[in-house]
Amino acid sequence: MDKRFETMVLHSGIEKNKKPINSKVTPIFQTSAFTFNDLDDLEGYYQGEGNYLYSRVGNPNTDELGQMVAAIESAPAGVATSSGLSAILAAILSVVRSGDHIVAADDVYGGSFHLLKEELKQLGIETTFVSFSDLQKVEQVMLPNTKLLYTESITNPLLRVEELASVVELAKKYGVATLVDNTFATPYHCTPFTLGVDLVVHSATKYIGGHSDVTAGVVVGSNDLIEKARAKVVNLGTNVSPFEAWLTCRGIKTLALRMKTQSFNARRLAEALKGNSNVSKVYYPFQHAEAGYGAMVTIELSKNIDINQFLKSLSWVKIVPTLAGVETTVSHPLTTSHRALPPEANEALGITREVIRVSVGIEHPEDIILAFEHAIERSIIQ
Ligand SMILES: *Cc1c(COP(=O)(O)O)cnc(C)c1O
Repeated sequence: MDKRFETMVLHSGIEKNKKPINSKVTPIFQTSAFTFNDLDDLEGYYQGEGNYLYSRVGNPNTDELGQMVAAIESAPAGVATSSGLSAILAAILSVVRSGDHIVAADDVYGGSFHLLKEELKQLGIETTFVSFSDLQKVEQVMLPNTKLLYTESITNPLLRVEELASVVELAKKYGVATLVDNTFATPYHCTPFTLGVDLVVHSATKYIGGHSDVTAGVVVGSNDLIEKARAKVVNLGTNVSPFEAWLTCRGIKTLALRMKTQSFNARRLAEALKGNSNVSKVYYPFQHAEAGYGAMVTIELSKNIDINQFLKSLSWVKIVPTLAGVETTVSHPLTTSHRALPPEANEALGITREVIRVSVGIEHPEDIILAFEHAIERSIIQ
């Protein structure tokens, strides 16, 4: 319980003496089902003796992923899912049903926005989107049937850090549940459950996995709520495969190392670009930590920069519509993640053609800074 983060990422899965033939790491249980010797054995499963039945319902690798993320989030329980989006769906459906109302931050991840606005609306769940930077506005749109407040610990792409303690306070005042997407911050920087948030979700596709080779999600929270979320995962069939769960657990072991380096590099890049006369804005939570707070940096280049030329000049830094890998990558929010939003909405959010989102990797910080400085120099419109 009192292990530090760097220790916990390595020692929070299945206990060593429970691993088959004492293997050092948990093997991949690539099996769809489990066998039973007799009816007593089968009965034992239903009495909760800890063995397994069928991999959609439970599997050692998927359980290990849920447990590891719960441990590093300091929450009692967790359940792994097939993607970040299915984690969000399971979390929402564990506290909300048809006829209920949700208040969500207007800058939530695009896929989450669509899930709420289209899919859940068709199922009779209404959502009001509002800026969470002014919680009075959130309070004003809450209704008697509001069941959930939903936001992100660090938002995309402008990296606003949410005042989670205040969100929790507001929710508690009305007896409403809270859901926080902690994908960008990761439990290395922020543990929403310890601040009183009911359900925390991750796109494990991002930093939890960390190597851009899996699609997975996790929900963590109290035992009670996670049992409900697990029932949704089992019944909707949104479980993650044993292999993807295993790869994700492998990634978690270096989460502390990766976040430390990536956040440090991100802060260095943000500071360097802040002093560049061809960068008009740098979005980074500077105020939160001297050693960096998260590995995302968003910049707005000046109007005298040819954006396409800039992206072409980044050499080894590739354009990728995702984030959080060990390599530094960039994305162009206006034409990818925020493409579906009306121009006025993007304008209001500050997402212009000049906005570039950088997912900072583990390369040498000087090389990262040079790649950006060179690309800027090569794309100035004369
Ligand atoms: C990527 C992402 C998601 C969705 O995750 P998938 O694994 O792609 O389903 C949700 N929230 C945030 C903040 C994300 O970055």
